[in-house]
Amino acid sequence: MPGDLPEAATYVIVGGGVHGLSTAWHLAMELEDRGLGSGADIVLLDKSHPGAGATGIACGCVRNFYMTEPLHAIVRESVDVWNYDPVLFGFQQVGYISCGEENQIADYERIHRSQNSVGYTSDLYVGQDARDFLTGVWPDFKHHTIDVVIHERMSGYAGTAQTVDGLISMCERYGVQIYSGVEVKGYDVRGGQVAGVETNQGRINADVVFLCAGAWIPAHWEMLGQPMALDVGYSDGTFVENKDMWTYWRLEEGEVYYDGPYYTADNRNPPVLHIELMSTPVHDAQTGVELDDNVYVYWKNGTERMERPGIQGGAMPIELGPEANVEPYGHANDEYQARPEFADYITACMGMFMKRFEGIRPNFKERRNGGIGAFTPDNVPIIDWILPNVFMIADSNHGFKMTGIGKLVARQVLGSQPVTQLQPFSLDRYAKGEAFGSGTTHSPWV
Ligand SMILES: Cc1cc2nc3c(=O)[nH]c(=O)nc-3n(C[C@H](O)[C@H](O)[C@H](O)COP(=O)(O)OP(=O)(O)OC[C@H]3O[C@@H](n4cnc5c(N)ncnc54)[C@H](O)[C@@H]3O)c2cc1C
Repeated sequence: MPGDLPEAATYVIVGGGVHGLSTAWHLAMELEDRGLGSGADIVLLDKSHPGAGATGIACGCVRNFYMTEPLHAIVRESVDVWNYDPVLFGFQQVGYISCGEENQIADYERIHRSQNSVGYTSDLYVGQDARDFLTGVWPDFKHHTIDVVIHERMSGYAGTAQTVDGLISMCERYGVQIYSGVEVKGYDVRGGQVAGVETNQGRINADVVFLCAGAWIPAHWEMLGQPMALDVGYSDGTFVENKDMWTYWRLEEGEVYYDGPYYTADNRNPPVLHIELMSTPVHDAQTGVELDDNVYVYWKNGTERMERPGIQGGAMPIELGPEANVEPYGHANDEYQARPEFADYITACMGMFMKRFEGIRPNFKERRNGGIGAFTPDNVPIIDWILPNVFMIADSNHGFKMTGIGKLVARQVLGSQPVTQLQPFSLDRYAKGEAFGSGTTHSPWV
């Protein structure tokens, strides 16, 4: 830690998750490149420590499978950041495969076109080609009702601890001052903008504040006097009055031992796999009991926390509503651990789609897992000024993968022109009737 908290800083970043750290690093580089200053002008505050929020407990999947087309350019930019130093950040570019049913073909075609239009190479397979592709990768794949597949070659996954360490080291290399254990308690708002940030260790005067507080953003939003509900106009002409500004969702994830090893037919580390089949039920193979009337599951090779080789994955998140107990966060919170039935569900899905995983339920690692996130009114990030000198990155829980947001934000804040890729994520989209709608999915990650 760099000594006592300074009395003033040009840039104060609140939150040391992926967005706070990436913004700090890129801002420092941009300041140097433009001859406008250096990392020493940036103070990053975290009430616990960098990585204490969702960034430290994420599954780590890096994918670009979104109905919201403007996100494709954001993930494209993010992969460049991951590849800046994949070893430092623990990035494994193994690819990502998403599987759907016939009713999703049109969405898949649209996503595939949009991804490729921004240089995010992906391949689309439909019908028997999709099923042949899957058995080509995993010979024991059981395709059930899969009709469509996207293979994103540029995607993959990263280890969260390594990512946090890597981002910290980039911040330190550029002289950013990172303070752990400094909690922002309030903002001194004068004349419509923030003059100072009040913390448990005193006040810091700030020229520009970056709000990167993850699941805690709703509390900061309220401290800054912003409305907790708003009218939302969607691009299809529909309108919802007085919608909650923030909705918490609970993510269920877990790990399964597998000494296998879990490789592809050609002995490679397999792509991240994601399956959503909206009309295919999941049955417990032992009892025959229907666990759910549809499939939503993802998994990847390798887990950070296990002492043996294994698989890490998750299922459909659960909506909590506008209130949630954010403290204590993550694995420390008794209320929001993955439910016992999650273990049955994910292992049933694994056995349902790959023969090698049949009967794998006893290998589920029983321990604390999962966490919560704060979602925006249309479940899509808001990346914008919320006051003339407060810039908010609220990623709607999309974003361990989105390391490129900080890079684009640094460019936007220091440049004279708005950055095109960020414009669709403006706050005024709700008032302007440009909120995003959902596609054919049950998931909030649209
Ligand atoms: C279980 C789980 C699995 C996930 N899996 C994936 C995945 O596979 N792929 C993916 O792309 N995304 C995933 N996500 C989403 C992703 O982790 C988040 O979207 C992303 O990490 C959010 O980053 P952030 O920087 O906005 O916030 P965070 O990482 O939450 O960081 C916010 C920081 O702000 C600090 N803070 C809060 N309040 C204050 C205050 N008052 N003063 C000072 N500091 C404060 C906190 O201590 C924290 O460190 C997952 C999320 C969860 C919960």
